[in-house]
Amino acid sequence: NIAKLVERVVRLHSERPAIYVGTTQVSTYNEFGHRVATLAGALRDKLGLKPGDRVALAMLNCPEFLEIQYACWWAGLTLVPTNARLHPKELAYILEDSGAKVCFCTAEIGEAFLPQASDFLENGRLICVSSDEFQHLLKADPIAVTELTGGETAWLGYTSGTTGRPKGAMLSHKSLMTTALRHYSMEPVGPDDAKLYAAAMSHGAGAFGISYLLQGGRQIIPESKGFRPAEIYDLLSTFENVSMFGAPTMVMRLIDDPSLANAKIENLKTIIYGGGPMYVQDIKRAMAAIGNRFHQGYGLTEAPLTVSGLSKAMHGDVNHPRYDDHLGSVGVPFMGTEIVIRDEAGNPLPAGEVGEITIRGDVVMTGYLNRPEANAETLRDGWLYSGDVGLIDEEGFLTLKDRSKDLIISGGLNIYPREVEEALLTHPDVVEASVIGVPNREWGEETVAFVVTSEASKIGKDDLDTVCRDNLAGFKRPRRYEFVSELPKNNYGKVLKTDLRKAMEGVGE
Ligand code: AMP
Ligand code: MG
Repeated sequence: NIAKLVERVVRLHSERPAIYVGTTQVSTYNEFGHRVATLAGALRDKLGLKPGDRVALAMLNCPEFLEIQYACWWAGLTLVPTNARLHPKELAYILEDSGAKVCFCTAEIGEAFLPQASDFLENGRLICVSSDEFQHLLKADPIAVTELTGGETAWLGYTSGTTGRPKGAMLSHKSLMTTALRHYSMEPVGPDDAKLYAAAMSHGAGAFGISYLLQGGRQIIPESKGFRPAEIYDLLSTFENVSMFGAPTMVMRLIDDPSLANAKIENLKTIIYGGGPMYVQDIKRAMAAIGNRFHQGYGLTEAPLTVSGLSKAMHGDVNHPRYDDHLGSVGVPFMGTEIVIRDEAGNPLPAGEVGEITIRGDVVMTGYLNRPEANAETLRDGWLYSGDVGLIDEEGFLTLKDRSKDLIISGGLNIYPREVEEALLTHPDVVEASVIGVPNREWGEETVAFVVTSEASKIGKDDLDTVCRDNLAGFKRPRRYEFVSELPKNNYGKVLKTDLRKAMEGVGE
């Protein structure tokens, strides 16, 4: 049980500060540990949950997120972190699919969710962390940490293949522990370190926080709801040895922000970036702006963060003859992770050849919850078939060529075209829809929808936008609609998205 390490950190660092919101200290490790053991007691005794039951979180970064996260593990429960920016209908789907019995939320998200919550509320409870009910839970008797074997699911992370609805990837205690230990192999972390939660705790990258918390480091939660570079720089004037995780787009916004000029940049120790491609010229520009403070991590929901990495030392190895190739890669496999590139039949390919990236090691999920077919396809002979395409060179560096077919990544967030297409198709006049991403300088990619409407239809962009507003999170809404008379298809009737992308060349910003 990874929560056993909370006992350890409380013993070693009881009076050290644990959590801050902005520059205000919220708790010491002693206080944090007490809240965790108390909430664990409440989950078990007041809410009647049993080991293996699932508890969802629908909230932006806040101290309660961390408290409930560790309380769930302490009590032997599975955490289901959801993206706080999801549409209420999308949240409802995840709650139903995961079978969560309790969902903790913030007031804002809870209110928006209520109109969609009737199915969930038949068997589940929605508890707002600002409610009296939550305060009541904090009066429970603390319990002892639950004994586990390590294979139990700690984190049920929702993704969605290009084929169909989101799937819950089951990550065990052992998997999260492995991620934390791998992180230490990349860079030692101790009680004098500070972890700044610039990205969402609910994302797989939230697991990088574990490494700092379990070593007694300060946990700093920005006050702003969104990512504000000026606030990040502000916090650097108070805290030392600050590290953070950020998507490449966040890194670029950070270095382009004018408040960098007055920042105490020496207090920024490390930025770990990943989750989407970082271009060579961009990382060079970032290092020119703030120095070499960078690690890169490659991972996916099914094997978070520490599949391969490009260390700070590699970022600084400017005299290496293949330096630019290294910067454009996702580094080398972490110790204990095996990566094999395979052809379509699943046969291993030699160095330099492009194929599907397959991954083996403790960091890999045990499977998707209740998805035997997807599991048979994704996990074969102990290997995770990532859906990413790439190559490993003679030196062992992994380069991603293309990602899982058609996934769109905008501002570091995944958009699955199929979900957007399905939303558009709910309009009775929409006959066909196909969604692709086009390059966008600020967000990485932006979404474009190609739509075929019924002959007599008079619908326009606004109607389509309304449909998307009603069904999808804001960040997934297409920025552009193209009305076409037909979609390009191959002889099997499959839409040729490559042709759509070609048609859009030069259109993005
Ligand atoms: P998710 O499952 O939402 O975490 O998204 C995982 C996908 O993001 C991977 O399958 C990759 O296609 C992409 N990705 C993750 N890390 C990197 C990276 N360092 N560089 C490029 N793409 C990445
Ligand atoms: Mg994925």
